[in-house]
Amino acid sequence: MPELKNTFAWSFSAAEAFDACPRKRYWGVYARWGGWAPGASEIQRKAWQLSRMDTLPALRGKAVEKAIMWALREMQAGRTVTPDQAYEQIAKPWLNTCWTQSKQGLWRTDCKANCCLREHYCGQWNADQEKEAVTTEVANIRRCIGNFTTRVWPRLKDISPADEIAIGGPGEEFFMLHDVKINAIPDYAVRTADAVRIHDWKAGKPSEKHRTQLNIYGLWAKMKHGAVPENTLLFVEYLSDGKLAAWAFSEEELRETMEWIETSVAAMTGYLENEDRAGNIPLPREQWDLATEPELCRNCNFYELCKPELGF
Ligand code: SF4
Repeated sequence: MPELKNTFAWSFSAAEAFDACPRKRYWGVYARWGGWAPGASEIQRKAWQLSRMDTLPALRGKAVEKAIMWALREMQAGRTVTPDQAYEQIAKPWLNTCWTQSKQGLWRTDCKANCCLREHYCGQWNADQEKEAVTTEVANIRRCIGNFTTRVWPRLKDISPADEIAIGGPGEEFFMLHDVKINAIPDYAVRTADAVRIHDWKAGKPSEKHRTQLNIYGLWAKMKHGAVPENTLLFVEYLSDGKLAAWAFSEEELRETMEWIETSVAAMTGYLENEDRAGNIPLPREQWDLATEPELCRNCNFYELCKPELGF
């Protein structure tokens, strides 16, 4: 098998992490590389394991996505689905498996195949706190599924599956902007006669940054599917409270989005040897800036790797 190459790639989440703290990108993209291999160093192995660690909100988002996509397919097939069914049949078994893997520490032997929840890894809960967290999350997930079936599905029910854009297909998960691979995977996209519609499911709170994220999907639609910006409709579905943010993409936002990505790519490139993206060799670890806000570090997966260098 040919050796895997760590090629330079950009994504919205990578930009978010890098903006918060360049060192996060060092651990999460470069130090972790090869951490799965038998001859990996201790640091590589640890960075690989920590980079795969999940948080409670991330787990919630995945559980909700699995349940609502199952519900969507069932309802498209003409079957009635209740939020309880979607929770019990899809979200709950998946969550139970993740929870067991995480709590039993199965990730110690295989962190790719087994979930590791940050709260378990860091020992953040006593029994009562864990019970309370589970109760709260189950209620959150059920509410999100309920809002999908009652508020979102009525707007999607007339879409034919034949008009859906295959999101998970090979090559669909990225596009090239100049020489840079941009990873972007919308949750749900549809092509109609006169528009491309992109929907993103959110199981957390509304945030301004979601507009930036969806605009990247607008750029994805143009680059991958030739969509005209004005005819690209973007929907952020806030499932927790059933609210919706929607707008039509525009040439102006397209330009701003491309400029923003280019600026972010240039900043990341500044941490590479000779600023060479093709080589993609990171500068030595000490040259990757650390976060200046202790709060960021306390909630960061890589805290134990940075600890010796942090002054707080
Ligand atoms: S622990 Fe702090 S300095 Fe280290 S990667 Fe995380 S945020 Fe950055």
